[in-house]
Amino acid sequence: MNKIHTYLIRISGTVQGVGFRPFIYRLAQQYDLKGEVCNDSAGVAIVVNATEEKIERFRDSITRDLPPLAQIDSLEICVCEEREFDRFSIVESEEVATASALIPPDISICKACERELFDPQNRRYLHPFITCTDCGVRYSIIEKLPYDRHNTSMRKFKMCQACKKEYHDPTNRRYHAQPIGCHACGPKLNISIDEALKRLQSGEILAIKGVGGYHLVCDATDEEALRRLRDRKRRPAKPFAVMVRDIASARELAQIDAKEEALLCSKERPIVLVRSKGRLPALVAPRISKIGLFLAYTPLHILLLEKLQKPIVATSANLSDEPIATTRESLEKLHGVYDAILDHDRPIVNGCDDSVAMVVRGEMVMIRRARGYAPVSIKLPKPLPQKVLALGANQKSTVAIGFDKEVILSPHIGDLESLESLSYFEKNIQTLRRVYDFSPDLVVCDKHPNYESTKYAKATFSTIKQIQHHYAHILAVMAERGVSGKVIGVAFDGTGYGDDGNLWGGEFLVADDEGFERVAHFGYFKLLGGAKAIKEPRRVALSLLFDLYGEEALGLSHPTVESFSQTQLKTLYLAWQKGLNAPLSSSCGRIFDAVASLTDVIQVMSFEGESGMLMEELYDPTIMEYYPFLVEEGVIDILPMIDAIVQEGDSRVAVSKFFNTLVEIVVQITRPYDLPLVLSGGVFQNRVLLELLLERFPDALIPNEIPPNDGGIALGQVAGVLSKI
Ligand code: ZN
Ligand code: ZN
Ligand code: FE
Repeated sequence: MNKIHTYLIRISGTVQGVGFRPFIYRLAQQYDLKGEVCNDSAGVAIVVNATEEKIERFRDSITRDLPPLAQIDSLEICVCEEREFDRFSIVESEEVATASALIPPDISICKACERELFDPQNRRYLHPFITCTDCGVRYSIIEKLPYDRHNTSMRKFKMCQACKKEYHDPTNRRYHAQPIGCHACGPKLNISIDEALKRLQSGEILAIKGVGGYHLVCDATDEEALRRLRDRKRRPAKPFAVMVRDIASARELAQIDAKEEALLCSKERPIVLVRSKGRLPALVAPRISKIGLFLAYTPLHILLLEKLQKPIVATSANLSDEPIATTRESLEKLHGVYDAILDHDRPIVNGCDDSVAMVVRGEMVMIRRARGYAPVSIKLPKPLPQKVLALGANQKSTVAIGFDKEVILSPHIGDLESLESLSYFEKNIQTLRRVYDFSPDLVVCDKHPNYESTKYAKATFSTIKQIQHHYAHILAVMAERGVSGKVIGVAFDGTGYGDDGNLWGGEFLVADDEGFERVAHFGYFKLLGGAKAIKEPRRVALSLLFDLYGEEALGLSHPTVESFSQTQLKTLYLAWQKGLNAPLSSSCGRIFDAVASLTDVIQVMSFEGESGMLMEELYDPTIMEYYPFLVEEGVIDILPMIDAIVQEGDSRVAVSKFFNTLVEIVVQITRPYDLPLVLSGGVFQNRVLLELLLERFPDALIPNEIPPNDGGIALGQVAGVLSKI
């Protein structure tokens, strides 16, 4: 029992560039162990002399007291050849850059750094870039692996003697912390915090350089400033995210439950959608009772908010549909939107938006996966046969690379609708390829011929595979949740290209790794005006009215009909009759739009998802009824429901019964299948619908780590490599 052996401990996971070796060094001191620790291609290797009893306790401490950013995938211990040591040391290994050495994402400031930030005795007192191995920027500054200072945008800052000493001292919290610096040697602001503060207090709009890009910022309590920001950004209604100093200030603005609090305070610090207390001007999120809150996550933001003592609106600096601005040059395009810039000289290598999440019935639902989460890997249940690059969809684009059991998902890229976003898309692909030294054997994309990602795949690569959009939605959840058998998947979505060339989006798929069968779907309706119908709910509603009443619909005194001019109505009726520029769709998202128009909630949207958000506001849980619908040979006919909605006087009742009808449809269609239920697709960003379904199906599998929307498609496409279709 007391005999001393030489043990070899091998650890894999996120264990490089996260202060793991100094952590082991300190633990070894604590346990009075002699030996060494080094990085190797699989992770970290430790050799120590110890008794069996001590090695057990040492192992327990490793797994229990892990540094904040480290994550262990496997830990193996064995007795090895006896070796003599006179002390414990960190062996400087050739840092091996392998695909499995993962880059940690950008992480919010840690407690220790925050304490030092406000400690007048500390040499980094009020330093806006204070950081250590447990916190700060990573992904946004890295050019390639290995994660060393000379491979990051910190390269241009020459460390002073004091910083150098910390950097090389294994007992120091800043040992090998690549982004460290101080007042003397670190990045510098262009204007003082005090000046930025004065400008915010006088109602100005500031562009502030954050971690993965610039934000547009103003005082969230200043109605005039909010109006100016909305006018200048031409963003009339889409809710703004609000940044607060700490959780106490968050609680002043919203009702926050324990899960939401944990998410807000997590090291990732995403924007969390919570129930607003209505204390801020309505202009922050017009007509919406939810508010997107996040806590200050860098020392710079903390310094600003500590003095301002007010919440700020912090919205990504971009033109709509374009990627977040990461350079002064790209920010220039927003000239006239901001009054001043709070800038610094540490370049952003990889742009990264803020992440957005919510909690529904205790489960985390990611809406936008970016800062804090990207590019962390997702483990597949089975290894991939090839190295795969997946190009995702067209909206809320993300790309992914897959090898072995690992999938690395890029952060949110955005909608591929402008040249800028396309080049940002290509940049993200290059980043993954460069950082992970990756080259694909196979490229996977969507089946939609007009998706930019599909065109790019066809133009750039010779070996491609195309995966149906909604199958990819279901596969994404199966991959994330580690399911490989048969499931009944419900894909309620916007529109995606179907195998019959129509625009699917209300699909019931019996699916597994190898393929799928479309067992039911909403009956097709016409999207009058094609893409225009996606922005104008009234066009979908009118089309359904034509389906129901034919030409008589033209004479209805109904808000949907009355929102058009007589000429428009005649043209649209003709288009409906002849099927001109009127693609067929089974999209559930479009049915939401139609109902929003028929209940006069909204006729023309100013941002994507607006109709669903507004309908959430009307839902009344005391209304239990649902509308009639028909199912024939797997085709769900919603016209009886549409007819009943037209007759319904009260929009609150109509909307509530509509939600209940969707739940009832899912119940009836999935009941005959004794299979796990998977819910995926953009419509499941709707909190009310998701809540109702999770209440009815507590075991339903939903995506947690990846978004239910098209941001998850790339993961599903990687998983689709295993399929036979
Ligand atoms: Zn720190
Ligand atoms: Zn320094
Ligand atoms: Fe989709």
